[in-house]
Amino acid sequence: ADRLKMGLAKTRDKLGKSLASVFGGGKIDDDLYDELETVLLTADMGVDATQHLLKDVRERVSLKGLKDPNELKGALKDSLVELIQPLQIPLNIDGHKPFILMVAGVNGAGKTTSIGKLAKYFQSQGKSVLLAAGDTFRAAAREQLVVWGERNGVHVIAQESGDAAAVAFDAVNAAKARGIDVVIVDTAGRLPTQLHLMEEIKKVKRVVQKADPTGPHEIMLVLDANTGQNALAQTKSFDDALGLTGLVLTKLDGTAKGGVIAAIAKNRPVPLRFIGVGETIDDLRPFVAKDYIDALFE
Ligand code: GDP
Repeated sequence: ADRLKMGLAKTRDKLGKSLASVFGGGKIDDDLYDELETVLLTADMGVDATQHLLKDVRERVSLKGLKDPNELKGALKDSLVELIQPLQIPLNIDGHKPFILMVAGVNGAGKTTSIGKLAKYFQSQGKSVLLAAGDTFRAAAREQLVVWGERNGVHVIAQESGDAAAVAFDAVNAAKARGIDVVIVDTAGRLPTQLHLMEEIKKVKRVVQKADPTGPHEIMLVLDANTGQNALAQTKSFDDALGLTGLVLTKLDGTAKGGVIAAIAKNRPVPLRFIGVGETIDDLRPFVAKDYIDALFE
């Protein structure tokens, strides 16, 4: 929990300071709610989540007959936890062998880093992992993955054909043949606006389905928290194209935009499997709504 707190320092500092000034004195009135609205919007919660939270906090205040602005903090915490709680659905890889996890995201979101952390996370649970090097656009990225795999006991399927779908197909079949527990299918970074690349990733999904009609079992989007509201836009686009089942939100340690989780919860509640709060393996952690809000408000 301390690491989480450390990781969320930036968002907490900003949010905490602004909230302290909102809740610091005076009385609970419309001016105070106006200030609160500004604070929530500034933390990148977005218009819809902000309106929802304001309404919910007002209801809690009148229900409990709160008079002291200081008590509002607790009401806001409760509202926030309730709003983002539905995103807390841990990734469960039992039930499929191999479990096929497809990973998507824009360049620089933290996809490669997160895949490395995920591979080690699964290994720490005694699972064998095979990685499909589906970023066929960057030869260097492919080479890097192979070397990384050798060093870390992760099987890597790579080929020079340049066809990401073919790599995924081979990887799923290899995993079946070798009795591997988890296949992670990496894909090249792409923007939702690059329509030909979105078609390509849809094809990867279709071809995975050919290799295993029950899969892919998880289609995960990696998002950079620094992009704020754009992370919500990316979630919508990738979800529309692929049918997302999970999210990873990285770089929460480097940003004050941690409120975007509320926006995602309100507008496109795809389960938030993991959050990244730093660059080491321990810094990718399963998302726990209450811990997250506690760490923001400490
Ligand atoms: P990709 O292009 O999506 O594969 O992105 P990378 O995995 O290469 O990550 C881009 C940069 O972000 C690298 O410098 C990573 O070390 C860094 N990064 C990824 N996740 C996190 C995180 O949770 N916290 C921090 N501080 N940096 C991260």
